[in-house]
Amino acid sequence: MRQLTPSDVEELENELRRERATVLEAIRAHLAGRDEDQQRELINYFADGDSRAAAEQLSETELALLRHSMDELEAIDAALKRIDFGVGGLCAVCGAPIPLPRLRAAPASQTCLECQQKIEAGDIAAPRPG
Ligand SMILES: [Zn+2]
Repeated sequence: MRQLTPSDVEELENELRRERATVLEAIRAHLAGRDEDQQRELINYFADGDSRAAAEQLSETELALLRHSMDELEAIDAALKRIDFGVGGLCAVCGAPIPLPRLRAAPASQTCLECQQKIEAGDIAAPRPG
C-alpha cells in the first residue's frame, strides 16, 4: 500500500476543515433561538455530562442529533490533531497508512479497515480520540 503524499494529507486536512465547518453550522442551528446561558449549559452538558436541566429542554431527537454532531466534531478534531502531530491518515492502532478511498469517504477515520474490523469484533480496544 502506498504512503500518503503531503498533498494527500493536505487534501485530507482541507476536507476535515470543510466537515468541521458543516458540523459547527449544524450545532449552531440546533442551538439557535436559545439564549447564551442555555447554549453554554448545553455545551457543558455535552462536554462533561453536566447541566442535565439544560438537556431536558430538548426533545430526544434534538438531543440525539446534537450528540451525533458533537461526536463528529470530536472525531474531526482528533483527526486534525493527528495531522498536526505528523501522523495524519495513519492508523492509530497499527500505524499503517489508511487507504485514500476510506479517508475520502470518512476523513475522520482513525484506523485502517483491518483494525476497525478487529475493534468491531472486540479483539482490540478502540483508540482514544485525541
Ligand atoms: Zn490498522
